[in-house]
Amino acid sequence: MPKKNSLLSFLFFFLAVWFLSGGAVHADHHKGLQGFNSLMENESRAQYRSHWLEVAGYFERAYRESTSESSAAEALFYLGRTHEELGKRSYLRADFEKAEDYYTRVVREFPLHDRAGEAQFRKAGLHLNHYHDAAQAYIEYLRVVYNFSQSRFKPEAQKVLEELDRKNLEKIRRVGGATAQKYTDEADAAGFSHQPEPGGTMKLMEMTPPAISSQPALDQDRILPEEARLVTIRHWSSDEYTRVVLDLDSQVDYHHQLLKPDPDLGTPHRLFIDLEKTRRGEDIAGEEKVADGILSRIRSAQHTQDKSRVVLDIHELDNFRVFALENPFRIVVDVYAPEERKVLGTLEGGPQITLDPRSRELTAGSLVEQLGLKVRTIMIDPGHGGKDPGAISNGIKEKDVVLRMSRILGRHLEQQGFNVLYTRTRDVFVPLEERTAMANSQKADLFISVHANAHRNPNVRGFEVYYLNFAKTEDAKRVAARENAVSTQKISDLQYILTDLMLSSKINESRNLAQKVHTNTISHAQGRFTDLGDNGVRQAPFYVLMGAKMPSILLELGYMTNERDLRLLQSDDFLEYMAKGLTQGILAYKDKIEQFASLSYKN
Ligand SMILES: [Zn+2]
Repeated sequence: MPKKNSLLSFLFFFLAVWFLSGGAVHADHHKGLQGFNSLMENESRAQYRSHWLEVAGYFERAYRESTSESSAAEALFYLGRTHEELGKRSYLRADFEKAEDYYTRVVREFPLHDRAGEAQFRKAGLHLNHYHDAAQAYIEYLRVVYNFSQSRFKPEAQKVLEELDRKNLEKIRRVGGATAQKYTDEADAAGFSHQPEPGGTMKLMEMTPPAISSQPALDQDRILPEEARLVTIRHWSSDEYTRVVLDLDSQVDYHHQLLKPDPDLGTPHRLFIDLEKTRRGEDIAGEEKVADGILSRIRSAQHTQDKSRVVLDIHELDNFRVFALENPFRIVVDVYAPEERKVLGTLEGGPQITLDPRSRELTAGSLVEQLGLKVRTIMIDPGHGGKDPGAISNGIKEKDVVLRMSRILGRHLEQQGFNVLYTRTRDVFVPLEERTAMANSQKADLFISVHANAHRNPNVRGFEVYYLNFAKTEDAKRVAARENAVSTQKISDLQYILTDLMLSSKINESRNLAQKVHTNTISHAQGRFTDLGDNGVRQAPFYVLMGAKMPSILLELGYMTNERDLRLLQSDDFLEYMAKGLTQGILAYKDKIEQFASLSYKN
């Protein structure tokens, strides 16, 4: 090629790029683009790793020497593109992971740049097509829809989401029935006679929920992994409650069986959890002694060639639940110690009252305490944190908004004499099931999870209070899906687990608390912010409320995707008003149950 010609085309290309990006483009960026495009057109040259790395080198320099946000974002985006194309040819996961890192940086560091939505979309594609993790891909595509609602990639992301939903539904129809039958038989064999309701529902609940596997829904030619791995075992224990979480690297079939204590052998209750086609991770201790609760030790072993077994030794046991949460896949075991109380009665719509028969002298105050109805310690749970930003709108992150609100609310509650605990006070990631476990094992009397909402329609706004129950509306399902980081389809699956969990949770009390908090907050805050949107009290299955022993609610303060709401959420004046209203609601709830307790005392 004559030199003059190539010089001309260089100039043309340079001008075109300069014009398109609305500013000066670093010469290295231009060289990178040229190299990238020529490799895309020449598959035989594209087979060489060194060629891609050379292109990456140009973009790296362009990034380092970038003088504007726009050129930095462009260079990072193309570093992602280059490594993605390299990965497609090398088949090395490390290349895709590098690409993902660059896309993530575009999204985090330049959320307002045009490329951010595209980077998020490409990141989702890596999960779907290269990591073969449809569950995570689903979340990533949801982020395109919610966090980049203006992006031209939004319609395409919605299309993939619909397709994933359709595939998942088919899978449930295929898998659901068979698993249920199998497990019912095993539950019979295990003899769950002590269970409060050994009927059909209970057995259905004890089975592996017919949840969607994290296997790829779209990719046909993927080689399925031979076996899953049990990665870690986590636990939280107090004298009344224990939660054990088994973390796995993919979805597995699991079964559990309870063996009653044997006085002759001196063995305690033993709960076996068998994980099919699972290898126990080498880092996991074969035996861990747990000194401080009803759980005395956790043992794990490779039971057979392809089955891992975890055994929990439990001092005192009244009831237990085993259920799975998704993304990532983990199995949660909740164990409850017996509470020696008798049912006193139930006020219509009010708390169920139980009383220790051993008590002789009671005052109204001690009755409240006795009944487990005291409201002294409140666990505030600022949503998200760390690697999980929650909803993002205009560069504002939900995790930051709700942490600030939680601190303000905590201060108001302390001023009223409450003892306030937090699931996090810093920008750290805390898994949802750990938050509930903290509240249970620290014996909090109320649990308040603080969130801000997002919607694809920017006109949607307003304040909502949720409590744990079946989702009644599509809208509630969608909110739970977002907060649980799973698909709305999985919310439908969750309803199975929920029926069982509800036997041990305080649904009535939680609804009362939600209503008190809602009316008081709205009436107080609307005194100052007259146009505050009010979406009322709602119900949905939130992971973070599942298994909570105390009345618990989840607040959606407002919609980050609505301009007015977002402005309010950033104003301390508004947050102070909300906190005041929320506190009045909690005080009203406390008054009501104390009144009720003194009433039943007089009777
Ligand atoms: Zn949230």
